[in-house]
Amino acid sequence: MLTQRAKQVDRKPMTFLESIYLWNILKGMGITISHLFKKKVTINYPEQTRSFSKVWRGLHVLNRDEAGRENCTACGLCAVACPAEAITMEAAERLPGEEHLYREEKYAAKYEINMLRCIFCGLCEEACPKDAIYLSQSIAPANYGRKGFIYKKEDLLIPHPKEEPEAYQKALGEKATIN
Ligand code: SF4
Ligand code: SF4
Repeated sequence: MLTQRAKQVDRKPMTFLESIYLWNILKGMGITISHLFKKKVTINYPEQTRSFSKVWRGLHVLNRDEAGRENCTACGLCAVACPAEAITMEAAERLPGEEHLYREEKYAAKYEINMLRCIFCGLCEEACPKDAIYLSQSIAPANYGRKGFIYKKEDLLIPHPKEEPEAYQKALGEKATIN
């Protein structure tokens, strides 16, 4: 024996009441019933949601300017800053006549975020020099398939401020009060 901490177990024979476990079952039921009258710690998500902290970071939004043009210039800084390597994009040149669609001469023809990789750190938002991406207060919905977590540009782009003003304001969320 390496230590002297071993204890001799006292194996007393059980009484009749102990041998039918009735008292222990009643004690357990008493604990269960007492929890029925306590305040619930769980919520019925998604019907109910918790209120989030003001600094809580949710789903990403690709931003537009006041005229509705896409801000992103496909510089790739967000992808470089991302510690989870969750962002991929393909750049394209803006053509003459597309000035009303894209603010800069280059834009993201494709832009994807893999939400299974994302850790919602917000570094992409901090790295962006064009105020083109930010993390909103919306929660990323659950999904059964992996593909459902690959958010494409169409999923991320904020609604047009002039064509869909209500949806635009809703998507801005907390950001509307920060700007
Ligand atoms: S929030 Fe963080 S992990 Fe998610 S895409 Fe942005 S930089 Fe990457
Ligand atoms: S979101 Fe910002 S950082 Fe990322 S590619 Fe577009 S402009 Fe660059």
